[in-house]
Amino acid sequence: MCGIVGYVGKRQASNLLVEGLSKLEYRGYDSAGVAILNNGINVRKFKGRLNNLALSLKEKPVNGHIGIGHTRWATHGIPSNLNSHPHTNNDETISLVHNGIIENYSELTQWLKSEGYEFKSATDTEVIPNLIHYFYEGDLFAAVVKATEKLEGSYAIGAICGQEPDKLVAVRKDSPLIVGLGENETFIASDIPAVLSYTRDVYLLEDKEYVLVTRDGVKVLTAT
Ligand code: GLU
Repeated sequence: MCGIVGYVGKRQASNLLVEGLSKLEYRGYDSAGVAILNNGINVRKFKGRLNNLALSLKEKPVNGHIGIGHTRWATHGIPSNLNSHPHTNNDETISLVHNGIIENYSELTQWLKSEGYEFKSATDTEVIPNLIHYFYEGDLFAAVVKATEKLEGSYAIGAICGQEPDKLVAVRKDSPLIVGLGENETFIASDIPAVLSYTRDVYLLEDKEYVLVTRDGVKVLTAT
């Protein structure tokens, strides 16, 4: 168990992400982090209490209106700053939070290594942003669909991309994820309490439903 929160809107994402993650603390966690889009991807992540992240963001704020946040419950790789989420691909253009377990990460990692990708963490998760990068041809949504077709296991995922600074893409399989529809702002989260301060208009995603969130709104699409 862990927590995911994502935000697209007009307000500062970092405050809303930390606030949302605090509402998911009951799920248990060992580390917390955020990635925020602002002239590229800015990642801040720490082992330990959510407060470590909150204090860091207070001391040195990261501005931006689109972001993803995560509280981790380690399954692959010890709790550490490096293994904390979000994880990014090699050139740090794609950042991703993941809840669940990728059962075939070892084969996928070997394959991506043979394609020249390097891995920094001991997590099963790091394979996903690199896989998305492998399939990326200018469309984050299409690349997430192709990457998740290769995954076995359970996942709730939120992803952002520095080359498409107005988008957040999410999907789930055997791990919970909801969409919260506010006024000119959209949230994703592992559970409803994370968004209740902002909206009561909540959509519970089905397995393999993909969400594309932009400033113009939300599309929910099922992979065919
Ligand atoms: N399996 C991933 C990891 O160990 C995600 C764990 C989680 O759901 O928090 O980093």
